[in-house]
Amino acid sequence: MRIAVLGCAGRMGRVNVGCILDDAELELVAGVQRPGHEALGRDLASLIGRPAIGVPVTDDVNAALAAADAAIDFTTPEASVAFARAAADAGTALVVGTTGLEAEHEAAIAEAARRVPVVAAPNMSRGVTLLNALVELVAGTLDDSFDVEIVELHHKRKVDAPSGTALGLAAAAAKGRGVRLADAIERARDGLTGARTAGRIGVAALRGGDAVGEHTVYFAGPGERLELVHRASDRSIFGRGAVAAARWTRGRAPGLYSMVDVLGLGDG
Ligand code: NAD
Repeated sequence: MRIAVLGCAGRMGRVNVGCILDDAELELVAGVQRPGHEALGRDLASLIGRPAIGVPVTDDVNAALAAADAAIDFTTPEASVAFARAAADAGTALVVGTTGLEAEHEAAIAEAARRVPVVAAPNMSRGVTLLNALVELVAGTLDDSFDVEIVELHHKRKVDAPSGTALGLAAAAAKGRGVRLADAIERARDGLTGARTAGRIGVAALRGGDAVGEHTVYFAGPGERLELVHRASDRSIFGRGAVAAARWTRGRAPGLYSMVDVLGLGDG
């Protein structure tokens, strides 16, 4: 299966390049960076210190998508929208790991998914995918005398907050409680906020150092507290998940899928 990496010189792009090179059944056929980027023209594999494969980094996204069966995109919301349209035009399956997507970006990606299979997930790891399922179960089992609070910690270069993973966990809690996330979410508190309202889902973000990503979901009840924690120590968990998602798109009908589908954890 032929794979292209979009944003190939980024932190996650490089990880994805390595994960594809490590998979004997996959062929790394293209890597895309934006026009003017210093990595353009460099060999994709030597970009991460591996022996050259004769595939230079390009800014021609349409040619890259035309050469690939699936593309893996970890870039920015604006770039991901443009890539989704281009992938749909090229008939190339897409894996979107980009976070910080607003409703308009999600709508554009969903539109592209009417024409090609798209797997989108703010966290591609197996552990977090399972954590989402656990959070939904626990939130649905415990009543709202158990307050749901989500805290995340990421490295200091992360540009969006709270993390897409934290928002995904909040959505899982809302689903378990049978409420709309938009009605329940309470982002970082500050000042004289008053007492906590039952049923709210709190989300707070910490930034510092080189933390790959940590998420804790608290169910804080009367006299007891349940905490579900995920700690990522290596970005390759996201790359391996993205590669598994790209492989999974093979022969798949157009549609918008999540890692729950890829890992077969869905209830359908
Ligand atoms: P990064 O800034 O290191 O990399 C982003 C790359 O995209 C850069 O190389 C940039 O030049 C490139 N890029 C941006 N616009 C482009 C365009 N129009 N054309 C081509 N290339 C373009 O960031 P990162 O740490 O690799 O994270 C990227 C995204 O992935 C973020 O949204 C992050 O939150 C998300 N992420 C998701 C997961 C997951 O499992 N889903 C895991 C880690 C990070």
